[in-house]
Amino acid sequence: MAATIPIHDPSAPPLPGAKTEIKTTTCYMCACRCGIRVHLREGEKGPEVRYIEGNPEHPLNKGILCAKGSAGIMKQYSPARLTQPLRRKPGTERGAGEYEPISWEETFAILTERLGRLRATDPKQFALFTGRDQMQALTGLFARQFGTPNYAAHGGFCSVNMAAGMIYTIGGSFWEFGGPDLDRAKLFVMIGTAEDHHSNPMKAALSKFKRSGGRFIAINPIRTGYAAIADEWVPIRPGTDGALFMAIIRELITLGLYDRDFVARYTNAGQLVNQDEASDDFGMMLRNPQGDVVNPLRHHNFYWWDRHSGRPVADHAEGRDPALFGEFHMPEGPMKGTPAKPAFQLLEERVRDCTPEWAEGITGIPAATIRSLAHEMGMTARDQSIELPIAWTDWWGREHKSVKGNPVAFHAMRGLAAHSNGFQTTRALAILMSLLGTIDRPGGFRHKAPYPRAVPPNARPPRGPASIKPNTPLDAPPLGWIETPADLCVDDAGEPVRIDKGFSWEYPFSAHGLMHNVITNAWRGDPYRIDTLMLFMANMAWNSTMNTTEVRKMLHDKDESGAYRIPFIVVCDAFQSETTAFADLILPDTTYLERHDAMSMLDRPISEFDGPCDSVRVPVLPPLGQCKPFQEVLVELASRLKLPAFTTPEGGRKYKDYPDFIVRYETAPGSGIGFLIGWRGEDGKQSLRGAPNPKQWEMYAANNCVHHYTMPVEHQYMRNWNRGYLEWAQKAGLRRDCDPITIHIYSEFMQRFRLAAQGKGEGRKPPERLRERVDTYFDPLPFWYPPLEVQASDLKAFPLAAVTQRPMAMYHSWDSQNAWLRQIHSHNYLHVNPLTAQAAGIADGGWCWVESQWGQVRCMIRYSEAVEPGTVWTWNAIGKADGAWQLAPGADEARKGFLLNHLISEDLPLRNPKDGSASGARISNSDPITGQAGWYDVRVRIRPAEPEEDGKTFPQIATAPAAPGVLGRTLEVMTYFAGGKRK
Ligand code: SF4
Repeated sequence: MAATIPIHDPSAPPLPGAKTEIKTTTCYMCACRCGIRVHLREGEKGPEVRYIEGNPEHPLNKGILCAKGSAGIMKQYSPARLTQPLRRKPGTERGAGEYEPISWEETFAILTERLGRLRATDPKQFALFTGRDQMQALTGLFARQFGTPNYAAHGGFCSVNMAAGMIYTIGGSFWEFGGPDLDRAKLFVMIGTAEDHHSNPMKAALSKFKRSGGRFIAINPIRTGYAAIADEWVPIRPGTDGALFMAIIRELITLGLYDRDFVARYTNAGQLVNQDEASDDFGMMLRNPQGDVVNPLRHHNFYWWDRHSGRPVADHAEGRDPALFGEFHMPEGPMKGTPAKPAFQLLEERVRDCTPEWAEGITGIPAATIRSLAHEMGMTARDQSIELPIAWTDWWGREHKSVKGNPVAFHAMRGLAAHSNGFQTTRALAILMSLLGTIDRPGGFRHKAPYPRAVPPNARPPRGPASIKPNTPLDAPPLGWIETPADLCVDDAGEPVRIDKGFSWEYPFSAHGLMHNVITNAWRGDPYRIDTLMLFMANMAWNSTMNTTEVRKMLHDKDESGAYRIPFIVVCDAFQSETTAFADLILPDTTYLERHDAMSMLDRPISEFDGPCDSVRVPVLPPLGQCKPFQEVLVELASRLKLPAFTTPEGGRKYKDYPDFIVRYETAPGSGIGFLIGWRGEDGKQSLRGAPNPKQWEMYAANNCVHHYTMPVEHQYMRNWNRGYLEWAQKAGLRRDCDPITIHIYSEFMQRFRLAAQGKGEGRKPPERLRERVDTYFDPLPFWYPPLEVQASDLKAFPLAAVTQRPMAMYHSWDSQNAWLRQIHSHNYLHVNPLTAQAAGIADGGWCWVESQWGQVRCMIRYSEAVEPGTVWTWNAIGKADGAWQLAPGADEARKGFLLNHLISEDLPLRNPKDGSASGARISNSDPITGQAGWYDVRVRIRPAEPEEDGKTFPQIATAPAAPGVLGRTLEVMTYFAGGKRK
């Protein structure tokens, strides 16, 4: 047999005469931010990408590159690339896809006139919502300076429950904000995580962990991706993880397998909680009016019940030890006689009935397995503890000779979060991790800068209509963290001020907004109509919306006067998606290879456990056609609109362009804190803080586009309470205050909302229709309840849970147009346990109907024993509308692929959780605390399709024709591969 000659050998020297170059930048084929080296060759029309490799000198991926990262070439040369600004042709209907090219000057003139008018009259008429971008510090600044509260990014429909549930408990969260220390863990438990989050770094860490003998347990309804290499798979019913955690917490407490020293000193478990039901402060922590408040903005004057002296004492008084169990009465002072219990006692009472048998009935996990999980976690934490010879001093002045670690690590993501009970579930997980004594300790969970932050962090959103004034920036950032009802963004009647109803009594802790509500609310005019909706990188007419078919209609629906209900839609994207077809104005974005980007400490950086780390992208190619980075669009618009932060005192333009903005912007004049922490100071020798450095971009480019500041080792652990770290973090500008960040086993913040719902105390109260809802769900201790959609479903008629995941080879819908990645997934199946499919009479590979109470889709089934029998699942965002993304008519993605979102409603009837009565009002299909979209709560049934229905998915939706200037499916593009000769 003849020797095989490789079509292309990437290690071969360049062809004679070829001009080649390698440039470093940062990948953006998913949100992980790996370092890459892009190999370029000078072609007839300028530089061409020939090959992308992982950058071995990058701290995040250390040279590893995944399939997505390699396929960045085909994103660059995607047929769906938009290349010029487009305006819907006057007189044509929205959605028909008839566009005319216009210049950028004309584009900016249109936007400046329209947005200037809105800003001068009613700034909230402008709404800016963005998808999975990495520039929310800039987009949020733009919205704040514009003066609109109607801003958010994708977090509300992604994993805000994970972020908020953990941040409100331990001051940090997974992924960008922290993660499992797999270098030292002995047991790793991964729950509800698909392959896309923390992709390459997680794969590398898992590989090392397993090779060094670590034990890996995956708890997930589905065994795919990471779970496929787990030592043990524990199948669980979707939306029931909270019940599992409650039962494990019960076991740990019952068996004494929790880290008492850690819990007593570093959590609020020992703080005394007022038990006087008649008091307006019932359920709040007792506070000593003579005690040291520590921080005037966040008082710390709590009581412990000292178990040695049998008296109340200031918490953390030296030589005292808090009772974690019991009921006491204050012996003297203004609270004399007040009954009180330590928070831990209340937790124990909460979980007392959460037996493994109780959890088995909910989760489907055998009680014996639940017991065994609890024992393994508790025993590993206790018996295999680690001690590192690192001396440190805690906030209260106690010196420690070493750092201890209990080597049980967890990771969780959207599988836990995307349920309308996800906040309380995530709180339960964070408390479980805390009981095991694993927070910011070796082998457990470790923070990443700028976390840990205060519980809750200090940024507060605008407090109501008074914050919104013509031609004036908001008096607060549009997104933030709610501490009390006074922080809500509501009017005098307690009704929402934001178009998405974020930070209202409907979803008080909606730290990331509710992007999934925007179109429906704007269409209904509830709470009001808006004029202009600007979407960036968000496929809101397809995979990023529930109730897809109806939402698409809303985008071109007209009112009685014949005007569009959403009068003006601007879409900025690099590709022709299902959503661009509904735009009145299309702004062609660049790819990640064509622009500057800052992955900033002010946003979501890529810090390591040992110190802050940020990164940039630099252009390795010129923009295609007239593409312009959205960053540049925002800086240009902000300058033309004369938004104060972008304007000199004399009224002139402050920043030449986006790179200039990134270099020279400071959070306050002279603060020395800007978007990037590396190479600051005029000579570029400072880190974290320092004067702007005009050569900062060049220095990042010369240093692998990343800056990594390594903290002294004594600052790397126990950061919530590490005095050295806390003082350093305050000086570095990572924290406003220098007080300890106590773990909130018991959440006073939740209780404050509950008291308001009960009509107690002064201040804002929820509208009558929401009182029972707030009273029920704002429980200061975690509890499990069925997701709202499940409560509203007939479980006999719709017995199956249906969920989606994103495949390892694609991220969101970003690569539905990517010629290489489409070869891995060109269509999706519904994956069903053979027992379930056979019971429904559907063969492997057969066509079936999937029905929810809201709609139906038709698709193909694949048998899989890697899914628990009560769950069906599919990949999200593979199925496409016919003709979108420049796919050929009838492409597999449209003919055989399908979108499960058609089965999910974006809202539900508002019910009284106490008696189940419906008020007639509707409310978002979201978590009642955070507004997190309940993507994974829908209930379905399956039935075989009729033979004549085989062959095509339902619904079939055709999208608009190709927009002018779209790169298209040219032979040049379709035959492009690295090293190949293009014909
Ligand atoms: S995991 Fe893959 S796609 Fe994501 S940033 Fe890294 S190389 Fe790129």
